[in-house]
Formats: sequence, C-alpha cells, structure tokens
Amino acid sequence: MTFARASTAAILDQDAHLIQSFADLNALKAQGARTVISRAEGAYVYDNDGQKMIDGIAGLWCVNIGHGRREMIEAIANQLQTLDYYSTFYNFTHPTAAALSQKLAELAPGDLNAVYFGNSGSVANDSAIRILHHYNIRKGRPNKLKVLSRHGAYHGSTHLSMAMTTPGYSEGWTAASELVHHLRAPHHWREGGEMTEAEFLDALALDLSQSIDRIGAENICAFIAEPIQGAGGVIAAPQGYHRRMQEICRAHDIKYIADEVVTAFGRLGHFFASEAVFDTTPDIINTAKGLTSGYQPMSATIVSDEIHDVISGPDGMFLHGMTYSGHPAAAAAALTNIAIMEREAIPERVRTTGAYFERKLRGLSDIELVGEVRGSHFMIGIEFVKDRTTKESHPAEVEVGLKVARACQKRGLIARPLGNVLILSPTLIMDEAMIDEIEGILREAITEVA
Ligand code: PLP
Repeated sequence: MTFARASTAAILDQDAHLIQSFADLNALKAQGARTVISRAEGAYVYDNDGQKMIDGIAGLWCVNIGHGRREMIEAIANQLQTLDYYSTFYNFTHPTAAALSQKLAELAPGDLNAVYFGNSGSVANDSAIRILHHYNIRKGRPNKLKVLSRHGAYHGSTHLSMAMTTPGYSEGWTAASELVHHLRAPHHWREGGEMTEAEFLDALALDLSQSIDRIGAENICAFIAEPIQGAGGVIAAPQGYHRRMQEICRAHDIKYIADEVVTAFGRLGHFFASEAVFDTTPDIINTAKGLTSGYQPMSATIVSDEIHDVISGPDGMFLHGMTYSGHPAAAAAALTNIAIMEREAIPERVRTTGAYFERKLRGLSDIELVGEVRGSHFMIGIEFVKDRTTKESHPAEVEVGLKVARACQKRGLIARPLGNVLILSPTLIMDEAMIDEIEGILREAITEVA
C-alpha cells in the first residue's frame, strides 16, 4: 500500500485528531501553526509544499546517520520478511536481538555487558530504575529505592522518567515524585554566581553528599545524569563533575546511571560519551534515539555484569517486560545503523566536524542578543538574554527562542526553541560547507530578532 499525497490543507484537517507532544495545543488550532514534514533525504527535510530545509535537529536529536538511507530501509524490510515479530518473553529470543545485545556489550564501556531493550528513552530510564529495585530487593535492601536526579534534567515522559526530569515539567502528581530528589543544576554560567568553576564543582559535590546524608544511602538506589543535559538547555557540567559525583556515589553504594539517550552514537564523537569524554564508567547506560538513528523506535538499558548477576540469581522471576522489547525490525535497524557508523567512521569524523560546528556557533556570541553559546560538538544551545551583563532573561511572553526558530525556518533551517534557548543538534553527516550555511542562517535570523 502506498499513501496518496494529500494537500497541506487536507493533512491539517486530519491532524485535528492528533495530539502533539510538548505543544500548546490551543495555539496549534490556528491555521498555519503546524509544519507538515513530508519527505527527508540526507541532511535535509522537505515540507509538504516542497520547501527544502536543513534538519538542524536531526528529527529530535536522533537521525544521526542522516535521512533516507536505502541500506537501512532494506535491512528493516528484509528482517520483516524473515521474522516480522516475536517476543523476548519467557524462554523466547530471536537472532537479531541476540546479535544486537552482543554488539552493544562490545561497544559499551567497562563490564556493561547485559542489555534490556525498550522502545523509547523514557522506557529505558524507567527500566533502569525497575532493574535496580529488583537488584536491591534481591540483595535484601527493600528500602534502597530512591533516585537522585538534577534540576535541568530531562529523562522522559512516563510518570517515573518525568519525576526524574526537572521539577516543573510534570503536572505535580506525587507518587512517583516521592521517589526522586533533585540536586542542583550543574550550570556554572547561570547558577555559579561569583564562584569559580572549581568552587562551583565543590558546591555541587557538597550538595550531593549532604543530600545523601539527609535521605540516607540505605534509601537511595541511584544517581541519574545526562552527560550533557539536553532538553534542559544543553548544559555541560564543570570539568571533572561526573567523575567526582560517581566517586561519591560509589563510596555510598549508590549506582551511577548515565542517560545517554542523546549523547551516545556519535553526537559527541564516540559511540558512548561516558568513558571516552567524561572519564566515568557508569553502572548502567541508557540509550535510544541514535541507536537506530530514528529509523525504528528502540532503546537499550545496558547494565553491568554485577547487576545482571544479581537479577538473574536463583531467587525468582525478573518481573519486567515490554511486548516490543528487542523487536526484530528495530534490532535490524540498530545493527545496520551501527555497521554504517563503523564503516563510515562517523563518530571519529564528528571529532573534527563537530568541533568545527561548535567553534563556528560559539562565534555567534558577538551578537548582542546572545548570552551564552554552550555544549559540545553536534549538541549546541544558544541562550538569548535581554542584558548580557546581568544575564537578565527576556520574559517568557517575548518568545525569543521561538522567534529566532521561525526566522531560521523561513531561511531553510529547522532549529528547536526551548524558552530562551535555541538548540542545534543536526545529523552527523555535516561537512564544513553545510556548517557554514547553518552559521550564516543563524547569524541572519538572530540579528533580525535582536
Ligand atoms: N532522556 C533524554 C536525555 C532525552 O533527551 C529524552 C528525549 O528527548 C529522553 C530520555 C526520553 O526519550 P523518549 O522521548 O524516546 O522517551
């Protein structure tokens, strides 16, 4: 079956039945408020009326190898012809999920050798906590259930992953929130006051230690952190932060979970960023998005041998399961995606092209409206301010990020506004000419709004 090409007006009519994510649903009722993306190729997407735009956000930080790869489409189709679906429940498994689990164990750092598959980053984060709850109950520590997270975090939209996300995103429902304590955001530029970065790091470490003392290590199963906070506005912590936090956690027998839903699979120049970039070997790494480059929904919760040994011990069932865990088509997409990344040395290339991208975008700091350009490689946030000296923000109703994003889109670049921050996280196949083009569009768009 192929789907007939509909007019934009007809699609928008049908779309009245679709509930968008993270959207002002009322504002979307206005004609023209939505953008219909109908086609994609390489680093570009096309709207339904044929406007070609650089996909400056890789779909949603996910289409790392670029759009429309025949090899991916064929691998998924071939898999569906051989085995469309089978579960990994009970004693069942299938060749593609098995091969992918082995490949991820090979790529992941340290002794992270066992994988639980899900179908979204939210589920990967929920699964990590459920696995640790199992782990602690098996170890006779039924109260060791709470989670330390951070202000500024984004871990997903299920109740538990949302509870671990920064306060303010959720509707205030408390049952899951009671499990979570939020530490200070590691954002020196906004939160550091007069402190040097090193002093700020000391303050963050103290916050962690004091929180553990207050809650009791015997009640805390995990600390969860994105190596660089993404949806919180692309916040990179002070140098040495992750290692310091992990050392404190280790001393209290608290597991360290790296939410690498965005940072894995090349975005920072490595398959996984935790060890290669941040000098930490987490006890669990969660990943999704770039795992399949978005060609199929899939996530992976990759756990250490030690955790795996405990949950697979002799004292009963592992009571956790998702129908689509390890779905054959998704596993085929992930294996092919990884093969393409290895063959084309995409993570290695990002160390050069991503560094160029970062350098070019940091150059936008000379525009009056720009307060801070931050992040790393192909994960960049640009924060706009009303006053560069005081760092005073524009009030929300000015919608400065949205205005710049619209000015970019008009010029053929999709960027993602998040309040006063504009996020750029393009496909990882950018060359210098495309990066120059992105920088040129951003410069014009920001200057127009300034
Ligand atoms: N964790 C991080 C760091 C994310 O950025 C996201 C989504 O953007 C998630 C988890 C949730 O992933 P999903 O939307 O696939 O549930």
